[in-house]
Amino acid sequence: MTEKPKIALYWCSSCGGCEESVIDLAEDILKVAAAADLVFWPVAMDFKYQHVAAMKDGEITATLINGAIRMDEQEDMAKLLRKKSRVLMAHGSCAHLGGVVGLANFCTREEILSRSYKEVPTVVNPQGILPQTTTIESGRQFKLSGFHDSVKTLDQVVEVDYYIPGCPPTPQLVKNAIMMVLDNRLPEKGSVLAEKKALCDTCPQKDSKPDKLRIRQFKRLYETQWDPEKCFLGQGIICLGPATRGGCGARCINGNMPCRGCFGPTENVRDQGAKSLSFLTSMIDSKDEEELERIADSVPDPAGLFYRYSLASSVLKGKLTGQRS
Ligand code: SF4
Ligand code: SF4
Repeated sequence: MTEKPKIALYWCSSCGGCEESVIDLAEDILKVAAAADLVFWPVAMDFKYQHVAAMKDGEITATLINGAIRMDEQEDMAKLLRKKSRVLMAHGSCAHLGGVVGLANFCTREEILSRSYKEVPTVVNPQGILPQTTTIESGRQFKLSGFHDSVKTLDQVVEVDYYIPGCPPTPQLVKNAIMMVLDNRLPEKGSVLAEKKALCDTCPQKDSKPDKLRIRQFKRLYETQWDPEKCFLGQGIICLGPATRGGCGARCINGNMPCRGCFGPTENVRDQGAKSLSFLTSMIDSKDEEELERIADSVPDPAGLFYRYSLASSVLKGKLTGQRS
C-alpha cells in the first residue's frame, strides 16, 4: 500500500484565527484527512515535538505555519519543520507579512516588557521583575522561551515555498493550497496563492469607483452616513483595496466595511504601506499647506493604518531603534 502524503500544521505568534480557517473547512477537513495523514497539529492532536524531530528530513509533504516569529521556541520549530518538510507554506498574514503582531515593531523589546510587566494598572510588581528564560524554584530549574528583539516574518527565518495570505485566509484558500499539494499542481515557488491583481478588480462596488478620485477630507465611518452600494474611496472613506491583493471574496466590503489590507501587497509591490500612502496622497485635491495639514490630520494613526498587516516585512521593518535581531 502506498503511503499517504503527510501534512503538518503549526502555530507561532498569532491570534489563532488561522487555525480557525482550518476548522472552517468543515466537512472538507474529512476529505483532507482521507487523502493525507495529519502528522503534527498541536492545536488539535497530541503529537510532541520529539515526534517531529524523529522524522526523516523531507518526510512531511507539506507544512503550514501560521503566526510570526518572536520567540526562540517558534524559531526552533520553524527550522525543524523546514528541515522535515518538502513544501513549507506561510499560512496567513502574520507568517506572510508579520501581521497585526508585527505592529509590536513600533516598540522596542524593553518598552514592551516594561509596559506589560511593570506599568499596566492591573499588574502589581513592586520589584519590577521581568520574565527570565531560566528560573530556579524549590531547587528545580524551569525554562521559558526567549523573547526576541523584534517580530519577524516566517521567510525572515527560514525559506518559504508558498504564501497563503489573509487575516485569516479564507477556508477556500486553505483548501485550495492543501489540494494543490495533494494533486501535485503547485505553481512557481514563491507564489502567493491568491489573485495577482488588486481587490478593487473584483470588488462588487468597483463600478462606482470614480476614475479620478479627488479628496479634501478623509472621513471615518462614524463621521458620515455612507452608501453601502458605492465605493468607499469615492465617498472619502479610506479603503486599501487599490493596494491590496484580491482573493478574499471582498469579505469586508460585503460586510459593509472598507478593506484594511490583510491580503498584503499586489504582485511586484515591495511595500504595501508605501503603496497605500502613495495612492492616497495622489487623491488629495489641494496645494494649500494648511489645508494639506488638515487633510493629513484627518487620517488617525497613519503608520498603524498603512502597515497594519505588513510592518515586519516592510522596507523599514519598524521603528528605527538601532540594530534589530
Ligand atoms: S476602493 Fe474599496 S470599495 Fe472601492 S472599489 Fe476598491 S475595494 Fe471596492
Ligand atoms: S477586504 Fe481587505 S481586509 Fe477584508 S479580508 Fe479582504 S483583503 Fe482582508
